[in-house]
Amino acid sequence: MSRARPVKHFSLHRIGETELRVIADVEDGVLHLIDIQIQVLQKFSNDVRWQRDGNAARTITLFILRNLESLVQHLAAQAALPSMGWGRARPILNVYDLAHPTASNIFVNQEGMERAGYWNDEPALSALLAHELAHPLAECETTHALRNLTLILHPRFAANLFRPDANAARVREWKRTLEQQVRELFDKLCLYGPREVLANALVLELRFTDALLHLDVENVRRAAASIVIRPALQEQLQAQVETERVLTHRAAAALLALGDMQSHLDFALETAAFYRQGKLAEAKMLERAFQVDVLAHVDPEVRAVYPALCDQLAQLPQNLTRAQTALQVKQLAGILDRALRAKGIGMECQVV
Ligand SMILES: [Zn+2]
Repeated sequence: MSRARPVKHFSLHRIGETELRVIADVEDGVLHLIDIQIQVLQKFSNDVRWQRDGNAARTITLFILRNLESLVQHLAAQAALPSMGWGRARPILNVYDLAHPTASNIFVNQEGMERAGYWNDEPALSALLAHELAHPLAECETTHALRNLTLILHPRFAANLFRPDANAARVREWKRTLEQQVRELFDKLCLYGPREVLANALVLELRFTDALLHLDVENVRRAAASIVIRPALQEQLQAQVETERVLTHRAAAALLALGDMQSHLDFALETAAFYRQGKLAEAKMLERAFQVDVLAHVDPEVRAVYPALCDQLAQLPQNLTRAQTALQVKQLAGILDRALRAKGIGMECQVV
């Protein structure tokens, strides 16, 4: 059964040398979003890097969709899905071909935007659109190297994460689940994280500082609101291990730490960009709010990851060779490994 939705809006716009094509399967809020995209593009089109790519005029195709179901299905069918950073929940993403970086396809997920609270937030939308447009401009030797690297992880779980009398099949199942979570965390922060920092740094360089700051302040506020339920989650996990009789309480603590790392450490990708661009007052303001409202509520091992991650990402050079980039990835992985090792999940990590 076809789940395709009819096109409700199609329009063409020209901003300097850039052509903006808009295709939408929703109506509400579309004109407003186009206005914001045009304002963002006006700032980009004044930048020399935007104009630099030879004779090729830039083409931006903006898809404003109720959700990304069809897109995700289509890409999954073509096996074109990278392992991380994708999925139905993503509020926005840019798909572009490195061979033709002057053409971007930006997909806006209206449901995802509404869920994240961005849909009616003009500066947040402006920052998000600028971030996606910045990705192809932020491509450099280091991002090219990152695209060709793979992290191979061999987690080793401490024996005391599992009850000695646990069912062996259930233990194997849990190990697979933990391994999957660890892999996603490492890919997100070590392989994709540096690319996000470079895109964010460019957003700041192109004078979207207020918009990005606003988005990040809101993100801290949301993280702080979610951390309120952490003690309940902790109790629930402890109760679950009692009932299931497979994991120990130590494993429940490891699961909680993994969850905290997944949910909160990518904030380092935001602050690192502010540090990188020498916007110290803004970086410190954001960092302080994040430390007081979010990090103070997680385990010390997880808390210690943030400054190390942020420091290294803020200083990441853009012109690294493949071997140098692999070394950086390995160091980032080492920072995460220290926290997880303290929780009973040791890691042998290779970058190839
Ligand atoms: Zn991004």
